[in-house]
Amino acid sequence: MADERFDVIVVGAGPAGTAAALTMARGGLKVALIERGEFPGAKNIFGGVIYRQQVEDLVPEFWKEAPLERNVIEQRMALLSDDGVVTVGHRNERFKNPPNCWTGLRVKFDPWFAGKAQAAGAVPVYQTVVTEILKQGEQVIGVRTDREDGDLLANIVILADGVNSLLGKQLGAHREWRPDEVSLAVKEVIRLPKEKIEDRFNLESGEGCTIELIGGTMDMAGLGFLYTNNETLSLGVGVMVNDLRKRHIKPYEVLDAMKQHPYIRKLIAGGETLEYSGHLIPEGGFTSLPRVSGDGWMICGDAAQMVNAVHREGTNLAMTSGRLAGETAIEAHMRGDFSCGMLEDYDKSIKDSFVRKDLKKYRGMHGLMTEGDPERLFRTLPDAVNEAGYQWLSVDAKTKKEKQKEAMRTLIAATGGRSDLMRLAMRGWRAMNG
Ligand SMILES: Cc1cc2nc3c(=O)[nH]c(=O)nc-3n(C[C@H](O)[C@H](O)[C@H](O)COP(=O)(O)OP(=O)(O)OC[C@H]3O[C@@H](n4cnc5c(N)ncnc54)[C@H](O)[C@@H]3O)c2cc1C
Repeated sequence: MADERFDVIVVGAGPAGTAAALTMARGGLKVALIERGEFPGAKNIFGGVIYRQQVEDLVPEFWKEAPLERNVIEQRMALLSDDGVVTVGHRNERFKNPPNCWTGLRVKFDPWFAGKAQAAGAVPVYQTVVTEILKQGEQVIGVRTDREDGDLLANIVILADGVNSLLGKQLGAHREWRPDEVSLAVKEVIRLPKEKIEDRFNLESGEGCTIELIGGTMDMAGLGFLYTNNETLSLGVGVMVNDLRKRHIKPYEVLDAMKQHPYIRKLIAGGETLEYSGHLIPEGGFTSLPRVSGDGWMICGDAAQMVNAVHREGTNLAMTSGRLAGETAIEAHMRGDFSCGMLEDYDKSIKDSFVRKDLKKYRGMHGLMTEGDPERLFRTLPDAVNEAGYQWLSVDAKTKKEKQKEAMRTLIAATGGRSDLMRLAMRGWRAMNG
């Protein structure tokens, strides 16, 4: 493939890269989609929930053919103490029509999605690692791959190479992420008979349930998840890398501990672990967003820190950014202009989209999670809420008024006093609202 020329080269066939390649191939551009894995999705993991809107923007009514697991009709949040759990959640039949989101497995979804780009004309170049970005002066002109005679030339290179994004770093698109800007997640896929899953989570065939887990992360900043697939459960936990380093704890120790929690243990009982994997999640949020374009290049998805950790959304931000980069590339192709002035249109589209607006709304979350005391947020508070729940629901000789006072006292003590509780509530409110 020596010196082969494309209109655009996309690096990475995850949700971001595939969305970009599909958009551009449909727009008539000659596109190469390069992926280091044996096939797209071969090495990719996520929780994971796939959202309808952003896939449907590219493939109408895709759920009639895509390899999805269960249509999520119930989402729960569980606050764990050592022996208790306080849950809040919402279940609604309306999440079926139109569907809102599904559980999925990347090893099935990514190849299907990349197949759409290929069918539209994108050239798949798999089992190929891009090792270097080629430049002429400041202008990006192509990529070097690990194949023999492996230089590929193009007018634009779109980087969708995921959270590590060595290429983005090499290009100067972003710096090396700090340990407090990424969490390390580990996940197990646990086989369980379909009927057991449906009984335990109160589901009918095809219906799905997700549970986000707060607490149980060994006093470190992080979140767990337990999702229902057709015949498996996805159980995982992600913890901020700076906390893991500080505490010298391995992420699988956190997952092992979580599996022993009585609430989790009973939901996964009798299951057989089929897979175990680990992956980083970009968690820097709004303040870590880099500039997303330059002379002959654009960057999308995780490579540009586009993850909304509060809502565990990443694939949808990745797909939207890929589609927007693809649309800018089509426009650039029509004008024959591949300069940063032209590609800056992509920065503007991101700015106008939900991607940047949602991250901006939660701009204070990263500080709240990392600057304060993770133990207070991820141990003391869940413990206190559980204790308050226990006291409130225990029937004994105390009056309800006494019980209410006691529950409040427990919460106030957990935050260090009444004024600290108010301060924390205010900080939380501000973090959630820009
Ligand atoms: C444990 C976990 C749970 C998650 N849960 C959810 C969830 O429930 N819902 C949700 O929406 N999001 C979730 N996310 C986030 C979501 O997975 C990501 O935001 C999304 O995958 C980003 O897509 P991407 O295309 O930018 O990157 P990726 O999916 O990481 O794809 C990047 C691709 O680039 C390839 N690549 C990298 N470097 C090179 C190179 N040099 N040459 C060639 N190819 C290369 C990789 O092999 C990979 O296929 C979760 C993530 C994790 C880790």
